[in-house]
Amino acid sequence: MKAKIITIDSRNINRKEIKQAGEILKKGGLVAFPTETVYGLGGNALDARASGKIYQAKGRPSDNPLIVHIADMDHLESIVQEIPEKAKILAEKYWPGPLTMIFTKNEKVPLETTGGLDSVAVRMPNHPAALALIEAGGGYVAAPSANRSGRPSPTTAAHVAEDLGENIDMIIDGGMVGIGIESTIVDFTEEVPTILRPGYITQEMIAECIGQVNMDKGLIPENEHVRPKAPGMKYRHYAPKAPLAIVEGEENRVIHTINHLAAKAQAEGRQVGIIATDESMDQYRGGIVKSIGKREEEETIALHLYEVLRQFDQLAVSSIYSEAFHTPKMGQAIMNRLLKAAGHTVITVPEQNEE
Ligand code: AMP
Ligand code: MG
Repeated sequence: MKAKIITIDSRNINRKEIKQAGEILKKGGLVAFPTETVYGLGGNALDARASGKIYQAKGRPSDNPLIVHIADMDHLESIVQEIPEKAKILAEKYWPGPLTMIFTKNEKVPLETTGGLDSVAVRMPNHPAALALIEAGGGYVAAPSANRSGRPSPTTAAHVAEDLGENIDMIIDGGMVGIGIESTIVDFTEEVPTILRPGYITQEMIAECIGQVNMDKGLIPENEHVRPKAPGMKYRHYAPKAPLAIVEGEENRVIHTINHLAAKAQAEGRQVGIIATDESMDQYRGGIVKSIGKREEEETIALHLYEVLRQFDQLAVSSIYSEAFHTPKMGQAIMNRLLKAAGHTVITVPEQNEE
């Protein structure tokens, strides 16, 4: 393992160690760190070479721009052309937090950081270790999720070590993240602010603060052929090794169908993986069953989504079947990630059994 791993207690930050991590960033090195959403892979956002190293370490396509993380509202002004009034309102309400906003950039931000675009995505994360690191590293940290491109995003330092331990300088272990899926992205370069990636902060929560907010057409599941505006959203992310299918429909019918598919596979000498919930897991008769969380507490489903996908990569399963999770608030964000992991493979179970 090349990366030095340091453990940070968020309630009692060790300033000396964070200073060391900041020095690595200032010298153009890479440090992975916890945020409230997922672990990020940080490099100095104003240093084109550091951004280049991030793309290389992740194996990330160079047209997929990085989010610049800041720790101080004043720092936003110095990297963008203009901050629309509505963006200020959202920042006031949700920063630090799981919200990224896109603005027209100024010359301070190298094109290497923005994947060649003249806009820049900016976020202030809500995590004491992340904020301390950003300050120690000079104030502007480009940080995509700290996974190899195409792998599920990391929610623990062990996931980061697994994917990137040989390629980066340091990993700050701050324990498991709080939310588990990436930030909501709102584009302010459009006439009407537009959500480019759903997350913990929902369309309703944003509309409550600033009025009309659109949803990028490429995000609507039925519009699978429409290219999403955020370059990263077009890639088949988070793909587990075994093919994944989402089984949708009335709960008992879904369980019945998955049991049927598992039995069929078993008869053919194959083993399937099943993504269930605490409420449903006892009702499965075969396969390797993993609970993603509690349907009654939707945050737990978001928190364990990537971890469960990673767990199935360690197991010899020929295919994975998952229940659908159209939960009230985070359902859209959860299903956006799950559909991508499934390459949009959905089995819809008819309401009435026609057998
Ligand atoms: P990640 O860093 O892995 O959370 O991915 C960042 C996401 O933000 C990707 O989907 C990017 O395409 C998107 N993004 C970052 N900057 C921009 C930008 N300037 N315009 C549109 N999308 C962006
Ligand atoms: Mg990512």
